[in-house]
Amino acid sequence: MKDDPSTMSCAEFQAQLPDLIGSGKNMADHPHIQSCELCRTLLADLETIAEAARQLFTNVEPPDEIWEHIETAIKNEETSFRHS
Ligand SMILES: [Zn+2]
Repeated sequence: MKDDPSTMSCAEFQAQLPDLIGSGKNMADHPHIQSCELCRTLLADLETIAEAARQLFTNVEPPDEIWEHIETAIKNEETSFRHS
């Protein structure tokens, strides 16, 4: 069966890998990962890279907070203007 995940080839699996990772599913549960050591190693490497990327992004302020700072700055500005 062509669409059966447990019988797919490594090439088929790796072609779907970006979508699978993007979908947020637990990759360790994938039948191909459980039966194929090669792709398990590949996935471990990818997860290391993804983890490193997440660490980089935690140093960047999320946009929501930036807008809050801007809003606060504008409000402070208005307040000091009214009081002067
Ligand atoms: Zn494989």
